[in-house]
Amino acid sequence: MPYPTQPTASHYINGQYVEDTAGTPIDVIYAATGEKIATLHSATPAIIEQAVAAAKAAQPAWAAMTGTERGRILRRAADILRERNHDLSVLETYDTGKPYQETSVVDATSGADALEYFGGMAATLTGEHIQLGEDWVYTRREALGVCVGIGAWNYPTQIACWKGAPALACGNSMVFKPSETTPLCALKVAEILHEAGLPAGLYNVIQGLGDVGAALVTDPRVDKVSLTGSVPTGRKVYAAAAAGIKHVTMELGGKSPMIVFEDADIENAVSGAILGNFYSSGQVCSNGTRVFVHTAIKDAFLTRLAERLKGAVIGDPMDPDTSFGPMVSARQMGIVQGYIEKGIAEGARLVCGGKQLDQDGFFLEPTVFADVKDDMTIAREEIFGPVMAVLDFEDEDDVMARANDTEFGLAAGVFTRDLSRAHRVAANFEAGTCYINTYNDAPVEAPFGGSKNSGVGRENSKAAIEHYSQLKSVYVRMGDLEAPF
Ligand code: NDP
Repeated sequence: MPYPTQPTASHYINGQYVEDTAGTPIDVIYAATGEKIATLHSATPAIIEQAVAAAKAAQPAWAAMTGTERGRILRRAADILRERNHDLSVLETYDTGKPYQETSVVDATSGADALEYFGGMAATLTGEHIQLGEDWVYTRREALGVCVGIGAWNYPTQIACWKGAPALACGNSMVFKPSETTPLCALKVAEILHEAGLPAGLYNVIQGLGDVGAALVTDPRVDKVSLTGSVPTGRKVYAAAAAGIKHVTMELGGKSPMIVFEDADIENAVSGAILGNFYSSGQVCSNGTRVFVHTAIKDAFLTRLAERLKGAVIGDPMDPDTSFGPMVSARQMGIVQGYIEKGIAEGARLVCGGKQLDQDGFFLEPTVFADVKDDMTIAREEIFGPVMAVLDFEDEDDVMARANDTEFGLAAGVFTRDLSRAHRVAANFEAGTCYINTYNDAPVEAPFGGSKNSGVGRENSKAAIEHYSQLKSVYVRMGDLEAPF
């Protein structure tokens, strides 16, 4: 490897790398070649204990610091992430297989945005004063305590920062468990936070499979759990957290609709469909994978889409010209291939793609199905791969009902030049994040999250503060206190 991918040790606890080779080995596979690039070890009970104990011990002193002091450290970490963007992007590409063309502009940079944003916000967190005659109540905005973050494998740096930045800004500590498929990047986030001056024990990273996540969620010292993952995992984690009445944020899966009306700018709509289906090889939770296209422009849309897909540069993710990389793992590729077979078997029309590339690594072609019906498996289940389903429609009310007829509610998009229709459709979408004439933008300033089965709570923006802090009311009586006896 031209870049060192084997970390110093598997875990980062109490400000340093820690190893325990008694843990189950976790091999890290480079998705573009299938070769092993690192071996880490799953956390043993002793490692889990060290991490939670460190987080518990460090948190009170951190919460007692001023927001300005906490924020300064987070903003310094943001600067280091930006300075090291190249190296971090290379590591993200090795961890996930996503092209450097993407990782160099999305991953460490959006992580830095979160640290900068919440670093800036830390000093602004206040309670309020409520006058009650001569008495009064004041509220204190307090930290929750120890937060656990559990990440999916598609954005390992970003998820580590999106959870860590607001948690730390509010005065919490964190134990973060990355997906075992992509364990490398979060360790770098921990290293950089400490280099920026974060006191030891406040941001710990431990590796492991679902059982390590489950052990963290049930630990009585843990006050909050934030999960990014699938709906089935979300159900398990939410239920386990509920047993301990813990705070939760659930960022789960989706099967989001994108509606392209007959008056849409076709070039922009095709761009939206490409961004919302093939970026990161389709491994994006908010993807608009059900593309409803008005029958009046269906042929023009599909023709232009097929032409534009010929421009995808598929290959070595490290080549800056590559715009489409492999699936994260052989397992994920197999899952997506199963869906492609189902799409064909259930009668959808394969417009392009559908095949694995004849080379090493886990490469699937960008795949488009047309004439998809609402009840087909590829229109109902989250695929999490480069598979677009194009469905026909003619009437706005009808397409609205069909768009919302899903258990998910993460995102939704509309392409139209009609201003009133755009806002009406956005208002009627049952989804947490909606787009008008664009798709998949996720700036840190805007709340991000799902409704229905796609999640609970919001990440990013001022809204995230509500999910990483709690209010204490303090009643102050100024005069004598009357009692019945
Ligand atoms: P999974 O749900 O399989 O796993 C998510 C994380 O939870 C992993 O770290 C996993 O560990 C861990 N985990 C699994 N079981 C448990 C358990 N019982 N208790 C605690 N932790 C557990 O998701 P994937 O990693 O496959 O990621 C893809 C999914 O994530 C998709 O559904 C996608 O939509 C969703 N996602 C949602 C986003 C959002 O913001 N809404 C953003 C990105 C992805 P391990 O993998 O090591 O087993």
